[in-house]
Parts: sequence; structure tokens; C-alpha cells
Amino acid sequence: MMALVYSPEYLEHKTPNHPESPDRLSKIIKGLEEADLMGNIPIFEPYMAKEEDLERVHTSDHVERIRTFCERGGGYLDFDTYASPQSYEIAKLAAGGAIKASELVLNGFSSSYALVRPPGHHATRERAMGFCLFNNLAVALEYLRKVRKIKKFVIFDFDVHYGNGTAHIFYNDPDVLYISIHQDPHTIFPSEGFLEEIGEGAGEGFNLNIPLSPGSGTSDYIYILQRILRPVFKDFKADFYFFDVGFDAHRDDPLSRMLLDDDFYEWMAMEISKQPQPRVLTLEGGYHLEALKRCNLKIINILKEETLEHSQISPEMSRVQEETKNLFKRIEDNFSPFFTL
Ligand SMILES: [Zn+2]
Repeated sequence: MMALVYSPEYLEHKTPNHPESPDRLSKIIKGLEEADLMGNIPIFEPYMAKEEDLERVHTSDHVERIRTFCERGGGYLDFDTYASPQSYEIAKLAAGGAIKASELVLNGFSSSYALVRPPGHHATRERAMGFCLFNNLAVALEYLRKVRKIKKFVIFDFDVHYGNGTAHIFYNDPDVLYISIHQDPHTIFPSEGFLEEIGEGAGEGFNLNIPLSPGSGTSDYIYILQRILRPVFKDFKADFYFFDVGFDAHRDDPLSRMLLDDDFYEWMAMEISKQPQPRVLTLEGGYHLEALKRCNLKIINILKEETLEHSQISPEMSRVQEETKNLFKRIEDNFSPFFTL
């Protein structure tokens, strides 16, 4: 059974005229209401992350900078990252939402999903960027490592942007395997996440990037993920699975040039439901409100019951681009010292 983590306080991170708006979460909740899921699916209040939790990931300078910036009234932290006066508190509640979701799966739920904002995956140890103030998922992971003594983690990030913050935080860490599928960073923020970025030192081989060309669609995604996720997960043998969820590779999304349709999110949810437990999902991007609502609902509908008797979605081979097939071959070569694909 699946649990959700949500609080209406997440709407208090105000971002005027910004694509990462409170309307995103309102729309998701409206979708749950329309589908008669509110009340049918357990929803928990997030924790409020403590400074101690944040500082397992972030520098105390960074935490302090966000706190004082918000205290002084907020504004733009950089060209696209906004904070309002309440944002410091709400960002702690977002990180705490990921911690709460992690606790829920250790207490018996098969999956949990932290419906939080601001998002987190671009926030590095020392700075806010890409709409993100603190790295929610990384804060939860370090909590699990420190407090729950969990050792090995997989993070699979399918937001259309590379989660550079998450990747950097764990770049030298052999116990955290970060896999990201995203639009080719030559063509999109944050201009990193290339195939050659495979981790460093002891972490070499544990940062796996799948940078697809703009215009890639559901068949490309499924083709390549079918060949990578399960074999790599099987080799790595994690104790805990994070799925970093973004809806901005949808064909309707204004921030990317990818062409996913709703079916992809159904396929992805089925794929998640087949992976070992415990599994935590955390929300990142997705800026077309209707697509966000529909596709989010698809994920929740599948994971809430773990029913596997859904129509089988498979890639239309004729639609898989040559570039995608070549990319897979290059990934297979690059990672052959580390994983058998
Ligand atoms: Zn994104």
C-alpha cells in the first residue's frame, strides 16, 4: 500500500509569475479529489526538517544564507530561483516531507510519495539554484544513513533536467547510485549531466547519465530504460530506492523539448512497482498543470494498490530513434567495468 505526504503549507512558498507555482500542487490535489482518492489513500503531514538534518547535506553558510534572505523579505536568489519570506520554513517542510516519506516505508508501506515544493534536485551543498533551495531527497537519504543506519541507495531521477545538485552531493560515494534520464544538456539547463560524468574516486561508475536528444518520446524512454534499470538495480543490490519524479519531459510541458505522452508515466509507475522495497518517490518538476495532474494520478493509481494487471505498454520499435539505440550502446560500453547490461 502507498502513502502520501502533503501539507497545504507547501502553497505558502510564493513565487509570483513563476512556472514553479503553488498552483502545481493545488492541481495535483484537485486531481486526487476528482478521482475520489482523498480519504482513500493515507496522507501524512510532513516533518519539519531541523537545521541538523539540513546540515548533513548543506553547508551551514548555505542554510544561514537562505534563512536570512527570507527573513529580509526574499526575492530572486539567482536568475530563476525565487524565495518568499516564508520559503525558508516551507523548504524545511519540503525536506522534512522526504524524511517523513522515508519513515513511512520503513514502517510498513510499500511505497510513499512526498508531494512537496520547493523542489530539490538542483540544490547543491552550498547553493540554491533551478527553483530549488534545499535538496529534499539528499536530506532524507543522509537522515536514513545516519539515523536508520541504511547503507546502500539507488536514486532514479526522471525529471527532464539533470539533478546536478543530487549528483554532485553523491559524486564520490560508492554507496549511492544516481541514475538520471534527461534532455541532452547541450540543449537545456543545467548544461551538465553528460554521459562521461560517471562519478569520481570511490564513486566512479555510480553516476549514470542517460542524456536523450530533444524530441525523444515514450518509445525512446522505454527502450533505453528497459535495458538499464533492472540489470543495474540487480547488480547494485540497494537497501533503499528513491525515485525522483518530474513531469517536465511531457510533450505539453513548456520547459522542455521532449515528447513523452501520458502512457510513459503509467509504464514508469508499473516499473517502479516491480522494484524491490522500500521505495520513496519525491516530486520535482512538471509545469503544464493539466499534464501534471493527469500523469501524477496515473502514478498514484498504480502504486496505491500495486495492481500489476494493467495493459502492457511497450515501446514501438519503429519509433525508437537511431540516436537512442546508439546512446544505449555507448552507455553499455562506458559502464561495462561496473555493471553488466
Ligand atoms: Zn525539471
